[in-house]
Amino acid sequence: RHERISIVGLGAMGSALASALLEAGREVTVWNRTPGKAGELVARGAREASSVEEAIGAGGLTVACLLDDASVREALGPALRKPAGGTLVNLTSGSVRQARELAGWLGGYGVRFLAGGIMAVPPTVGTEGSFILYSGARDLFDRVAPVLGPIGRPHWVGEDPGLAALYDMAALSGMYGMGAGADHAVALVHAEGGDVETFKREVLRPWMEQMLPITVAGADVSESVPDEYNPAMQATGLETILSASAEAGVPADLAGHLRSSLWRMQRAVTAG
Ligand code: NDP
Repeated sequence: RHERISIVGLGAMGSALASALLEAGREVTVWNRTPGKAGELVARGAREASSVEEAIGAGGLTVACLLDDASVREALGPALRKPAGGTLVNLTSGSVRQARELAGWLGGYGVRFLAGGIMAVPPTVGTEGSFILYSGARDLFDRVAPVLGPIGRPHWVGEDPGLAALYDMAALSGMYGMGAGADHAVALVHAEGGDVETFKREVLRPWMEQMLPITVAGADVSESVPDEYNPAMQATGLETILSASAEAGVPADLAGHLRSSLWRMQRAVTAG
């Protein structure tokens, strides 16, 4: 809890992380490639390091929150000496393979590594409902969790360093799918002269809230469709939504998620 924390990367997310940690009274050092982004954080008590080496050398935990995997290697590489020691928590989004390879790369320098995935956007960092996925050694997570608690509820998903990225990416896919559905719904209402704001407030949101748990519970890797779904009825319903969309002149690619549902129902009908 009293460990010093260095934040490498002051983009929208890194700044929000540093801000939440300062708010909670943590001792924070910050570094950003392009200078000039630390002003407000420094005014609130952060120390600005003039190099990555200095930030990592400040002791305690280093948290990287950069654009992508390549930028993490580019920023940290020149600062690593054998044995570097220390602990790195990577909250930069990346793929499963990138997280596993980063663990191996840092392990070669004697750096202890915890991979992370931020389940929040900058304004919700540290607010109720925000959480951070972590994967890597359990004992390291147990040490890091109370230190980084203020940025979001810590949630460990396993020893394999790739797991946080896996669940993060998969959850983002779920979110973008939800967004695609909402965009299509709004485009349809707009094209046919409905009131978008009223529709969003009085229909779309309560409907999506009602269906969210059912949708998540029903997500499945198999081709099977639960009996109560009646795939023939679903297929007809989906064809109606698609033709309504075509009638409204809503671009066909906005309805891609409907087509994949239709194909699933049609395969279930064919399979009997
Ligand atoms: P920004 O684009 O705001 O910031 C990117 C940061 O990366 C900047 O600090 C930038 O430095 C730095 N950077 C880029 N390339 C390099 C490099 N080669 N060497 C050193 N530093 C580099 O992105 P965010 O802060 O929004 O996102 C950061 C990470 O957090 C991403 O992986 C993102 O996926 C993840 N994330 C973001 C969320 C969001 O809603 N914003 C939500 C969840 C996760 P410089 O100022 O010098 O350009």
